[in-house]
Amino acid sequence: MKVILIRYSEIHLKGNNRGFFENALINNIRHSLADKKYKLVKQSGRYVISEFEESEADSIVETVRNVFGVYSVSLADEVKSDYEEIKKSALAIAPESGTFKVVCNRADKRFPLNSMQLASSIGGDLLENNGKLSVDLHKPQHLVNIDVRENGKTFVFTNSIKGVNGMPVGTGGKGVLLLSGGIDSPVACYMMAKRGMSIRAIHFHSYPFTSLQAKEKVLTLAKILKKYTLHMTVDVVSFTEIQTAIHEKCPEEFMITIMRRFMMRIAERLAKKYGCGAIITGESLGQVASQTLESITSTNAVATLPVLRPLIGFDKDEIIEIAKRIDTFETSILPYEDCCTIFLPKNPVTKPRLDVVKRVESVLDIDALVEQALENVEIIAV
Ligand code: ATP
Ligand code: MG
Repeated sequence: MKVILIRYSEIHLKGNNRGFFENALINNIRHSLADKKYKLVKQSGRYVISEFEESEADSIVETVRNVFGVYSVSLADEVKSDYEEIKKSALAIAPESGTFKVVCNRADKRFPLNSMQLASSIGGDLLENNGKLSVDLHKPQHLVNIDVRENGKTFVFTNSIKGVNGMPVGTGGKGVLLLSGGIDSPVACYMMAKRGMSIRAIHFHSYPFTSLQAKEKVLTLAKILKKYTLHMTVDVVSFTEIQTAIHEKCPEEFMITIMRRFMMRIAERLAKKYGCGAIITGESLGQVASQTLESITSTNAVATLPVLRPLIGFDKDEIIEIAKRIDTFETSILPYEDCCTIFLPKNPVTKPRLDVVKRVESVLDIDALVEQALENVEIIAV
């Protein structure tokens, strides 16, 4: 019978909280396999999936591999703890050529051969069966693992497939993500979800200055991100009035700084409404004028919640590499405008002074603009 073995990572380390982490992990695995039929049990510090359609094995492995907290996954044969059965399975799964090593683990001391004897005997069988194989105990290309368990059954499997690691979503608090249509914020989302954060998104759009396609693009990104965050809701906030007011009443070079302060105020209000303890952005130090330390200081000044910027020390190249890996890149580069790009000043201040920013924005009725924006939030579950 085919089974899938799932090993988990860092959550091993969480002494008293272990149950909490394990529950979250198992719930998340179940959630991502919601459309499949299978049985899942916990067994000596790992999970075992069985009773699935064999034709779905690869897709289950691929899905589980991408659940945060999963260290590695193996597709294994489960056979009776009987030498001939183990041998048959080892011959069937063995590599076709190259170097290998048999690794045995014998939890069932009733099994007549000890680990060393079993490994060398099965190794001998494999060599005899296939002249293109040779043994390398130090740097083998392939492993043949044999795990003789206490319940009279044995797992036989080759190399394990790496999981994405991280922490199970739901164990790292809740945050709101400022999601634009760009490359960076989806990656920031992935990074925080990987550390176990539950995330919901906020998107500012400026219809009719920005198109409906721009909004659709963000919803498409949110859908892709849901694969990692497991749940995803986007609060779409209309930014048109605020941008128009800033454009009309404030000096052009402060446009972006003031705009970002509004985004932060609104994000904080929504975060508190949803019980979220952090605001996440895709900023990276020095990437653009609004991401200098001074700009970050003036944006931060209106927030009381921690603002998490997981990409702060990343180069654009590094961010793009992750975006490609997590499948958001192709959508992010679609050419629809973001609300940040309209009314873009020719010479934005790169080092805004907080006292000056406060003075130039004081001509606006900030509270009223924020309230008005909050009254018209469109909540979209993707
Ligand atoms: P990104 O690639 O994420 O758009 P960027 O390099 O274009 O980032 P900015 O446009 O300065 O940088 O935006 C910085 C951060 O502000 C974004 O990463 C995102 O978190 C947030 N942000 C920008 N525009 C919006 C928007 N329209 N709605 C929600 N958040 C936004
Ligand atoms: Mg952007």
